[in-house]
Amino acid sequence: MLGHSSPRSSERWQEWVGTLLLYDEGVIGALRRVYGDGYTSFMEAVTRPGSRLYVRVNTLLADPNDVLDSLRSRGVEVYRDELLEEALYFPVRGPFRVEELKISVVADKYAAESVYLGSDLYAPGVLKCDPSVEAGAEVVIRAPNGVPVANGVAMMSCKEMLGRRRGLAVKVTKSVYATAKIRELEEYREGLLYPQSLAAMYVTRLLSPKPREIVVDACAAPGGKTGHTIELTRGKALVIAFDVSLKRLQELKEELGRLRELGLVEAWRADSRYLHIDFGWIRADKVLLDPPCTALGVRPKLYDVKRFQDVVAASKYQLQFLKSASRLLRVGGVLVYSTCTVTMEENEDVIDEFLRSDRCFDVDDTVPEGLSNNAFLKSARSGPYFRFHPHLHDTSGYFVARLVRKC
Ligand code: SAH
Repeated sequence: MLGHSSPRSSERWQEWVGTLLLYDEGVIGALRRVYGDGYTSFMEAVTRPGSRLYVRVNTLLADPNDVLDSLRSRGVEVYRDELLEEALYFPVRGPFRVEELKISVVADKYAAESVYLGSDLYAPGVLKCDPSVEAGAEVVIRAPNGVPVANGVAMMSCKEMLGRRRGLAVKVTKSVYATAKIRELEEYREGLLYPQSLAAMYVTRLLSPKPREIVVDACAAPGGKTGHTIELTRGKALVIAFDVSLKRLQELKEELGRLRELGLVEAWRADSRYLHIDFGWIRADKVLLDPPCTALGVRPKLYDVKRFQDVVAASKYQLQFLKSASRLLRVGGVLVYSTCTVTMEENEDVIDEFLRSDRCFDVDDTVPEGLSNNAFLKSARSGPYFRFHPHLHDTSGYFVARLVRKC
């Protein structure tokens, strides 16, 4: 620990790695509940990217071996995951030292996280810039909290960056971390690749959707797991994707359009806390519930601010989603609950509370066919559930539970 500071006088905050992670005592307590004193290794890990950047091959359009060969033939360093056939990864190198220059361009958090991994900065991601920036100037790109993430050469003036809002703003020459620029690959544009963490791919694998099933994805946007479901069922399942946000549903449609899977899915707007009321007629074979969470396991984090009240608020929502989405499942059907966070309050405790309230559900600790000898999944076993830990599994932090409906 590097000590604590008090952005608000009434609260004590703990800082980690300078000012990167600002978590209050309750959040630290929740992390200690999971990791004991080892929570500092967890926090250190999420400020860095993993050593591999994963993509999922769209197996409806391409064979992973062919995609691998075509990337390698152009000199791209890429490998197949040892265990999951649809998963390819690019090595992540770094950290490298970024030079402190006088002239800076500030990127929004989302853009800064990509630039941190070596992507170029496009004008829509520019928050602020030094008015003296002209095309050709050497600049430092910073995250909104001031952390330098890359050096680069401006491709337009500051005025144009903020005025035009499109086009390449800064060509990155050196970033803290470096890996393949996935979105610039022709395979990406052709819809053969979807950037997704390995742990997220295991979520849909654990759902194990089959052709001719009805599959509900209750919090679906931007559609990472929806697309994977379509691929695993060869487009032969009825996939119903719900999300409350029209903007994010639009992103889901764009992503599934890029993957050429849009015609194979129903994408409906709904508040999934009330699915049992609005869509109570659905009898699904599988339900995937990947609700909003505190996202403590997402990496790399340039900075993050969380209070324990965020954890409590998220867990209340999660229980509501679970109570509602579970009612759409047929008897004998399987529900997978997943989050990209690590607190027990949002994971085990939500499941326990749900199982107390609905005697028709049980935890299913079996693994779907084909995964029983999977060493990676075995290493992630946590009682009847799965937990992927950033510092132990070199992935994002994820929790996954399988539940089965008995009556
Ligand atoms: N499963 C997605 C990620 C989901 S993130 C994937 O793999 O790509 C959580 C999603 O829940 C967000 O898109 C958010 O818009 C949605 N959400 C939040 N509140 C909701 C609500 N009340 N009803 C339905 N969806 C909601």
